[in-house]
Amino acid sequence: MTELHLLHAGYAHDRVASSVVLVRDGDALIVADPGMVARRSLILDPLAALGVAPEAVTHVFLSHHHPDHTLNVALFPNAEVVDFRARYKDDLWFDHEGDGHRLGPRTQLWQTPGHTEEDATLIVEADDAVYALTHLWWRSDRTPAIDPLASDQAALERGRERVLEAVDVVIPGHGEPFRVRRARP
Ligand SMILES: [Zn+2]
Ligand SMILES: [Zn+2]
Repeated sequence: MTELHLLHAGYAHDRVASSVVLVRDGDALIVADPGMVARRSLILDPLAALGVAPEAVTHVFLSHHHPDHTLNVALFPNAEVVDFRARYKDDLWFDHEGDGHRLGPRTQLWQTPGHTEEDATLIVEADDAVYALTHLWWRSDRTPAIDPLASDQAALERGRERVLEAVDVVIPGHGEPFRVRRARP
């Protein structure tokens, strides 16, 4: 069973909060981007409603290293933290294989630089759809096309094209999920 739950839909206006997601993939319990939220209960309460204790979370995925996506990383004491290049646990730092690194049988990380050089997207082949958890888009209306913070807009656009060919639903960094039409070969 591979399923995905949006714990918190992010936003970015006068206040900023991250989209936070739980992925259940086999034995892996992955929380993506436990960043800024108005209060921690907005992450912990929906998690509890799904029957998941913070101690049971096995992985935390970070889309990149801006505080709005990382601030609450320490809520999950037993989780291995995974970013675009490595796995971190306590005082251990293991580089992983990079693009294609798997956190679960049907969950893998893609390196998708552009917003920052250190951006990654989580691709989840869930039972109901293929999802991308990503900061390649950060609002649910898919705009604006130009990321004012982008370190490399061209790389960001290549990442978007790659994701659009592979997924059904995008969960942007700061918004509700939106469905995309997968470009099938
Ligand atoms: Zn950012
Ligand atoms: Zn952000």
